[in-house]
Amino acid sequence: MMIVAVIAAVLVALIVVTVVLVLARRSGTARSKICPYCNARIQSGDRYCNNCGAHLKDE
Ligand SMILES: [Zn+2]
Repeated sequence: MMIVAVIAAVLVALIVVTVVLVLARRSGTARSKICPYCNARIQSGDRYCNNCGAHLKDE
């Protein structure tokens, strides 16, 4: 009966790790933004779009 508890605990731990990894990825992608003019992916620190050269607002 202990094995069942151990397996359940391992499964729960795996689910928690997966959720944490997904949340970490989402927060990572949230840093990059999309150019409002050409929809190219740009870095949050960029002042100009690398694709179309449009001036981007500072944050
Ligand atoms: Zn652009």
